[in-house]
Amino acid sequence: MKVKLRESPLGSRVLAVQEEGTLLFDGRVPVAIFGISTFASILQATYQIHGEAASTSLYMFGFEMGKSFAKQFVEENYSVEEALSVLSDIDAMAGWGRYRVVELDHENKRAVIVMRNSFIADALKPSEKPVCDLLRGYFAGILSFLWKIDVRCEEIKCLARGDGECRFEIHP
Ligand SMILES: [Zn+2]
Repeated sequence: MKVKLRESPLGSRVLAVQEEGTLLFDGRVPVAIFGISTFASILQATYQIHGEAASTSLYMFGFEMGKSFAKQFVEENYSVEEALSVLSDIDAMAGWGRYRVVELDHENKRAVIVMRNSFIADALKPSEKPVCDLLRGYFAGILSFLWKIDVRCEEIKCLARGDGECRFEIHP
């Protein structure tokens, strides 16, 4: 389904303050819109300068982002399933891609998340190895916060590598 931004749930939550040149999400969180190609240039430069260390940096950045995003759901007493479902909807609205949880094991703190149209894979394809380091960290950060124990995330399949979708495995 395609809808114009102003008619979408995201559009109704974004306030454009034209004279100031700012966009506010939910009337308070400043946001900015970049093209995927701009984002790709930023990521490529980061990998060129920092090599493998860039993977770790982006993972850690994603991890902190995931924790901060998950915080509100804990405060509002969402279940892990509900929090992931709402976050998936919000992230899809933001153009990040569409993910779904295919396995969720609360006891052993393991999960599998599958994602279509990862915006990072789109930005960095083609690649010989998985590239969604930011999202790896993001999912690890969300579940670490919701489960109250640090978990890690590996990307087993990646759209950028020619796999049909990205697959993330989360475990302690
Ligand atoms: Zn990927």
